[in-house]
Amino acid sequence: MISSIKIAKRLPLAIILAWALGLCLPGDPAAAIPDKQPSIRVLIAENQTFGRLTVKGRYLLKLLPGGKIVKKGEGMSGVPVVYTPKGIRLGSEEFVGSGIRIEPAEDRSLYFNQTRFRGVLNIVRASSTPTFYGVNTLDLEGYLYGVLHHEVAHWWPLEALKAQAVASRTYALYQIQVSKSQPYDVKSGTSSQVYGGSTVERYRVKRAVDATQGQVLVYQGKIFPAYFHATCAGVTAASNELWKIDLVPLRGGARCGYCRFSPHYFWEAAISLAELEEKMNKFGNPVGQILKVEVISQTPSGRAGSLRITGTEKEMVIAAKDFRVWVGGDKIRSTRFTVGLDEDSAVFHGKGWGHGVGLCQWGTLGQALLGHTYQEILKFYYPGSEVTPYASG
Ligand SMILES: [Zn+2]
Repeated sequence: MISSIKIAKRLPLAIILAWALGLCLPGDPAAAIPDKQPSIRVLIAENQTFGRLTVKGRYLLKLLPGGKIVKKGEGMSGVPVVYTPKGIRLGSEEFVGSGIRIEPAEDRSLYFNQTRFRGVLNIVRASSTPTFYGVNTLDLEGYLYGVLHHEVAHWWPLEALKAQAVASRTYALYQIQVSKSQPYDVKSGTSSQVYGGSTVERYRVKRAVDATQGQVLVYQGKIFPAYFHATCAGVTAASNELWKIDLVPLRGGARCGYCRFSPHYFWEAAISLAELEEKMNKFGNPVGQILKVEVISQTPSGRAGSLRITGTEKEMVIAAKDFRVWVGGDKIRSTRFTVGLDEDSAVFHGKGWGHGVGLCQWGTLGQALLGHTYQEILKFYYPGSEVTPYASG
């Protein structure tokens, strides 16, 4: 699998595909505003049996669970981290327990597999497989420094970066609140917001985060999942077209004429019927040899609602959003498409990239270029919401 970071570098506006694919379905539709800056726990590695750790300067090594200090060290370079049946081995030392925690004395002096991170790192043994995972805990604003770079290009106008910063902060805070019982709040790949550690931080992105420090979107005094996507291609979608969330700021319908210049405005994809048949079999819906693929209903925002796939054995009706998950969000970039068959393929002509809910990133750029402020942009994509400092109580 190509790492999400690589994807993001190649496609700096990579939409949070898993949101589009419905993999990151939140529990509650809204959450309370915290009264101080929280930490965020980011899953930066999983299913690992080996990694390399570097710390420049002094550090504390603690045993998990519990956090008992087992070592006060200074400096390590590329030291192997290895899963063992009883714990974690760091270099030649084995630490028996559920994992270890590395707390550098200085921020940004910790590297895991050559990526630099702020904050501290937990290396934890997985419960069901002989592997470990890594969780980087850091303050929320520091996390945003490492996220925004992947979501928007750092050279975009500052107002566009600020709008993204507030949306990203709101979404992250929301995730922190709904993930309390989980071992981490967000993943570092496309299933949450793409996070590249402090290695990827850029000056202008930091400026946008700092200029909006602590500002979040609220609706009726509560934080909500401030979804965003790359390009809506005309009108934003309602969250209840995809998920069981119905909040005023996420009801879509924003007529976005600002993303017309997006490179993602139009897309085409041809998927061989053989591949489609295989996917249908794989997901437990065999229809035989495919004869016809057609869109049979539309969502209120004009996207494909459901598809009928007719085969030699039977026909199936599938929600377009689920079809996108099966085939892959990188191929079927949105559900705003038409489809027809040629000799041996289903040919899709589509518009936009992503689920279409909330803020349209290329539309945000278009609005910023027209001189709109980040507050105006956020009001446009999240109507009924307000920008407020989360530390205000
Ligand atoms: Zn748009």
